[in-house]
Amino acid sequence: MALEPLLNVAALAAGSTINGPGRRVVVWVQGCTLGCTGCANPAYQPHEPRHLMEHTMFADKLVELCQRTQCEGVTISGGEPFQQAEALLHMCERLHKREISIIVFSGYSWEAIRRSRNRSIIGLLNIIDAIISGPFNEEVWKRDKGIYKKIVVLSKRYTRADLEQSEQKMEAISCQDGFMLLDFGDMVEFASDIQRIVRSNPLI
Ligand code: SF4
Repeated sequence: MALEPLLNVAALAAGSTINGPGRRVVVWVQGCTLGCTGCANPAYQPHEPRHLMEHTMFADKLVELCQRTQCEGVTISGGEPFQQAEALLHMCERLHKREISIIVFSGYSWEAIRRSRNRSIIGLLNIIDAIISGPFNEEVWKRDKGIYKKIVVLSKRYTRADLEQSEQKMEAISCQDGFMLLDFGDMVEFASDIQRIVRSNPLI
């Protein structure tokens, strides 16, 4: 039987209020070849193993984390999420079944995503609620705080206004190596679960 791909995760946070509508759990995936000028997360570019997560277990943990930290959904950023489309699809299918909203930040243009023939990407477009797409542009970001990205609403869960509103907010997030736990008090148990999963994964 073919092994299913693991999701390579760089960092994790809960309680973010700028990465989409409402409070959200945020997953930053590891690996991106797009090379945007002034990349916001250069440490997440190399496609090297960081935290390789089995998608079923990870999705279940994310659901639990959403419930525990009163987050309404999961936002996936990176790195480039669509460069791990197969593993991401498996994980998102499970989140979708549990009615967790899903927002994806991608460095690909919406046109490139929409035209993709990759079956996993096509599958993802059926279950993601919205995509914030387009390459990072440091100059425009400094001027407009990220509004240059294209917002694509894919479900009825959120309106364009919901997403535009969340893009206006700013929040101090310090990125660091490994898992980033914003609501650390709530997440000690989750963090130790994750460490157990990471330690028991022979591919790391
Ligand atoms: S898509 Fe994101 S991670 Fe990739 S190079 Fe651009 S800013 Fe960096």
